[in-house]
Amino acid sequence: MDENCIFCKIINGDFNTEFVYENEHLVVFKDINPKARVHLLVVPRVHVASLNELDDKELLGELMMGVKEVTKKIGLKSYRVQINTGKEAGQEVFHLHIHILGS
Ligand code: AMP
Ligand code: ZN
Repeated sequence: MDENCIFCKIINGDFNTEFVYENEHLVVFKDINPKARVHLLVVPRVHVASLNELDDKELLGELMMGVKEVTKKIGLKSYRVQINTGKEAGQEVFHLHIHILGS
């Protein structure tokens, strides 16, 4: 856990954030500033700053499976995924996360 990381705090339960889906590898919660009717964030439980710092192929697979699991759970058949990587690409929170955007 990174003490200064907002997503680590959310995962730790500090803000009582509701998880739409969770398993041993990841949590999924609603984006606080939704850019689509459905806007979820798939977030690994371990602190990894961005995709550039992720070397764990298994975790990468788990994250993508998490996308499938949560969209199946909520019955969302059509959606986009996005991983902003680096400041210039618009990454604001430096704890890896996958956006799920569905209309
Ligand atoms: P990114 O630009 O890819 O780093 O996206 C960060 C996302 O996290 C933005 O879409 C924010 O709206 C979202 N966000 C920031 N703080 C929170 C929070 N406390 N709970 C839920 N979503 C958040
Ligand atoms: Zn973190």
